[in-house]
Amino acid sequence: MSDMLKATLRYATTAPDSEQIEKIKSVLYKKLGTTDIELEIISDPSIGGGFVVSCGNYEYDWSDAGRARQLRAELNNLRRKNGDNETGKIITMLSSKVENFDLSIEDREVGTVEWVGDGIANVNGIDHAFYGEIIEFEDGTKGMAQDIREDHIGCILFGNDTGIRQGTRAVRTYKEAGIPVGEAFIGRVIDALGAPIDGLGEINESGYRPVEEPAPGIIERQSVNEPMETGILSIDTMFPIGRGQRELIIGDRQTGKTSIAIDTIINQKGKDVICIYVAIGQKASTVAKIIQTLKKTGAMDYSIVVSSTASDMAPLQYIAPYSGTAMAEYFQQQGKSVLIVYDDLSKHAVAYRALSLLLERSPGREAYPGDVFYLHSRLLERSSKLSSELGGGSITALPIIETQAGDVSSYIPTNVISITDGQIFLESDLFFEGMRPAVNVGLSVSRVGSAAQTKAMKKAAGSIRVDLAQYREMAVFTQFSSDLDETTKKQLAHGNVLMELLKQPLEHPIPMHEQVIILVAVGSGRLDMIPVSQIKDYKSRLITYFNTEQADICDELVKGKDLSEQLKHKIIDAVDKFNELENKKLKEEVELLQQERR
Ligand code: ATP
Ligand code: MG
Repeated sequence: MSDMLKATLRYATTAPDSEQIEKIKSVLYKKLGTTDIELEIISDPSIGGGFVVSCGNYEYDWSDAGRARQLRAELNNLRRKNGDNETGKIITMLSSKVENFDLSIEDREVGTVEWVGDGIANVNGIDHAFYGEIIEFEDGTKGMAQDIREDHIGCILFGNDTGIRQGTRAVRTYKEAGIPVGEAFIGRVIDALGAPIDGLGEINESGYRPVEEPAPGIIERQSVNEPMETGILSIDTMFPIGRGQRELIIGDRQTGKTSIAIDTIINQKGKDVICIYVAIGQKASTVAKIIQTLKKTGAMDYSIVVSSTASDMAPLQYIAPYSGTAMAEYFQQQGKSVLIVYDDLSKHAVAYRALSLLLERSPGREAYPGDVFYLHSRLLERSSKLSSELGGGSITALPIIETQAGDVSSYIPTNVISITDGQIFLESDLFFEGMRPAVNVGLSVSRVGSAAQTKAMKKAAGSIRVDLAQYREMAVFTQFSSDLDETTKKQLAHGNVLMELLKQPLEHPIPMHEQVIILVAVGSGRLDMIPVSQIKDYKSRLITYFNTEQADICDELVKGKDLSEQLKHKIIDAVDKFNELENKKLKEEVELLQQERR
């Protein structure tokens, strides 16, 4: 009888009668598929009352102690969800929870903690956990199975590890790690697990989605065909982004990376796009400032902020972008357009490196584990435009990467560059020259977005990129020479004006029709005579003139009309008219001054 299963039954005070034993045996039979069970019955007063049956790694808990443990874990979770400040509320919630608490017989696979520290716990004795499964610890803390080995599993912990020590029980939940999702999250700030952290109370979720989800397949997608306007002139004209695209924002620290993403969110007002900003490993004060900007500009009304700050443990920083994406997918599947910002993936890679080293995965290049490429590719592959049959929803991703001294060729930047559909490269030198946003025209690219650009914009943008590139080259060559020929001077003047026009202050998105007007105006050379110092004011006066006096032109552009030769001439004529008015006004002012002097 070597294959007879051994099980132990522990009881507190009264030993089970034969009927109870039969019942227990039939439960074991259902679970294990054999009747050959040898049941050892021992007394164990520590369980308080009831029975506990253990068989291999399985445990069936009918004991009072087990039930008390369930209750404690439940209460612990409640407290964690609500923070400490709302004591009154908590007490009422606690009591209702206790009343409704359903004491269930626990049937689960149990292990014990072998090692714990730095947000990681290694658990022995659980044989069957799957990757990404939630593991629950005795004190109610939850973790996720991240590293499955032959003799143990490595869990990353989503809570404080102070209640966990060597020997603490850990239980399988058979549930995949996920977050609550729903419309009610719009306008809210949540942590990486979906719990509110803005002090505005509980959020009523409409569903629960796993944080890791396979990306849509080729058949389920369609190519990018709708613009995702950033409202930033230099991007919309030269590096247009389409809905469903993944465009990397890359640059050194403090070059305006976050600003571009936030301005893009601000520009989505009234465009029926839900925006998700995922902060990864940033300072809490930085995140607070961003939230303030979003609130001030009204962008919070259609946005969700998923925040994992530098003070959060590595597991939370690691999971945050996946949680944000799960949220985005919820809306995408309803046919909606979503914009998601990952700020930033360099810090995400660092958090993952920390986890992996603690999980004893062997480090590879630059001490990152070998699967770090897969980390970001499986995240960014989930951004897509779904086919019309599936509702046509889209997720547009703006991942951010921080470089060191402009080095785009290091490990993580090259990985993410190869995954995305283009990059906006920001440069410190340009930033300090006052060129803001500091977009490097030569190194930036958008591979798919031009398919989504409106016809008018495509025509108006025309040769601007080439013009700028030529100008930069010429500016370098001619900076020390004094006698320049007329054509060169003209080209330089044109370039100077162009550069000045591309400067754009924060929180001032430019609508598409205004962008087209500016481009046509500068393309016609009508602005080249204006001193560079006056360009900024001139631009805003010109735009006001068009919006008030030339509403029909604006209308045509807003309606998405193509930029026909006729419309182009209409715009240029209007610019001429405006220039005339400006000159007249100037003359009048000069005369007035002269009169006053006399
Ligand atoms: P970090 O590396 O710290 O995350 P970052 O690259 O995200 O920085 P931001 O925080 O966006 O950079 O911007 C840095 C500073 O530059 C901020 O003070 C911001 O106000 C300023 N800035 C960014 N863009 C512009 C702009 N277009 N006009 C004026 N100031 C700007
Ligand atoms: Mg930033």
